[in-house]
Amino acid sequence: MRQSDHFLLVSHVNPDGDAIASLIAMALALEKWGKRTTMYNESPIPAVYRFLPAVDRIVRRIETPSAYDAVVILDCSNIERIGRLSADFGQFSLTVNIDHHLTNTGYGDFCHVDTAACSTAEIVYRMIQMIGIALDREIATAIYTGILTDTGSFRFANTNRTAFSICLDLMENGVDPYTVAQHVYGTYSIGRIKLLNLALDSIEITEDGKLSFMMLTREMLEETGTQPEDVDGMINYAKSIKDVKVAVLIQELFRSDTERDKNRFYVSLRSDGSVDVAALASSFGGGGHHRAAGFSAETSLADLKGGILAWIDNSERGICRN
Ligand code: AMP
Ligand code: MN
Ligand code: MN
Repeated sequence: MRQSDHFLLVSHVNPDGDAIASLIAMALALEKWGKRTTMYNESPIPAVYRFLPAVDRIVRRIETPSAYDAVVILDCSNIERIGRLSADFGQFSLTVNIDHHLTNTGYGDFCHVDTAACSTAEIVYRMIQMIGIALDREIATAIYTGILTDTGSFRFANTNRTAFSICLDLMENGVDPYTVAQHVYGTYSIGRIKLLNLALDSIEITEDGKLSFMMLTREMLEETGTQPEDVDGMINYAKSIKDVKVAVLIQELFRSDTERDKNRFYVSLRSDGSVDVAALASSFGGGGHHRAAGFSAETSLADLKGGILAWIDNSERGICRN
């Protein structure tokens, strides 16, 4: 990275707080180091993250992917996670893979994957320290947002000592936790709250109480005037029920016009630790962490639910459902 001048920074489609924050923190830090940067994400930036510094500089199109000295890919366990641009992977001069997912495939010329890091933002912070770039309020705010959102506001199992110690340093560099929390969790549209109502109402649990399903259809989003980004975090309600070990959120993405029963779904998975949902997601072509993972699938709803239930029942790592 020292030897490169012009960087293309990329993070995953449908970005979460960590994907956006890592992108911004890395770009601002590299610029302080005298480098030129371009930030890329295929998807629109969710409204709740548009308060972040330099967020308007994130572009959704890249003309010449080979024009950069280095492409830094953040928070992506595999190259396909960056979306359409992955087709140009072969043209990248040099690829740097910076991530914290258990299922990272080790793509790229340089690979810095730390599954003990609570977020990719934590790794970016450590790299900034290592290089000796001074923090400022903008970089600190981005990193704080990544840590806050990926730890579920310091509630998930990835909430580690480092997270708190970094956040103290970030506060000393001008972060105001209340302001960040207010933007991220206190600027929802009324439609999002109405969607939450429908999502809560859709929750079903298996007879033994160990598995919960939440379902979001295209109609629910249309009815409430919401976007896929508004679904973020809703699965935590399905996971928060006593005795539930695995929560599954099935989100209908597209409905096939031709085949009546074959639709495209995005599946979010959360576990209490007794089931490795990263392995479950991987078996469906996705990935993630031990306790939080996801995948997309083109199938019928019945087959999808059946497939997930069968994996959990058959897996040696599965929960005892008797
Ligand atoms: P989500 O349920 O969308 O919040 O995703 C949970 C975790 O799984 C996040 O760390 C995602 O980056 C990861 N993840 C989701 N979908 C995929 C996928 N298709 N491939 C790899 N990782 C994924
Ligand atoms: Mn992410
Ligand atoms: Mn992350």
